[in-house]
Amino acid sequence: MSQPQAPQDPHCIFCKIVHGQIPATKVLETSQAVAFLDIHPVNPGHTLILPRAHHAHLGELPDDLAAHVASLLPRLCRAVRAATGADGLNVIVNNGRSAGQTIDHVHWHIIPRFRDDAVNWPWPQGEYVGDELGQMQFRIEQELRASSDAVGG
Ligand code: AMP
Ligand code: ZN
Repeated sequence: MSQPQAPQDPHCIFCKIVHGQIPATKVLETSQAVAFLDIHPVNPGHTLILPRAHHAHLGELPDDLAAHVASLLPRLCRAVRAATGADGLNVIVNNGRSAGQTIDHVHWHIIPRFRDDAVNWPWPQGEYVGDELGQMQFRIEQELRASSDAVGG
């Protein structure tokens, strides 16, 4: 029986890269994922990894596909770090416009970091007041219970 076609968006630049319609400097390919160099690197060696299938956001990714991409991260991180001589890496997913996502095909950034580089990090952090922390825990746990009920987990 033939496999169902992976979702694809004809207007998505990363789908075009995945399907070889526009060039990219690829460093790793599997049957389900592709990694290539970011064309506008934060630092040289800045790499993106993404599932071949088009899913806009992390929350829409099937668990097995998320697990596959995640399984490639340790080796890719070791390679990027060794190849660039980076002191560290930021591995991030920008999810939604307000979080800085500009291309709606979920992707992980692997960003080499160097002591005293010019990157503006870390971001400002706040504090919880009173019972805000516990209330937030309750709300997130409630959502997690509801979603695991929905999939029978
Ligand atoms: P984000 O802002 O998280 O959606 O990240 C999108 C990233 O894709 C940016 O860092 C861009 O520099 C990068 N990018 C955009 N077009 C290309 C391309 N054709 N090849 C490689 N990287 C790209
Ligand atoms: Zn896409």
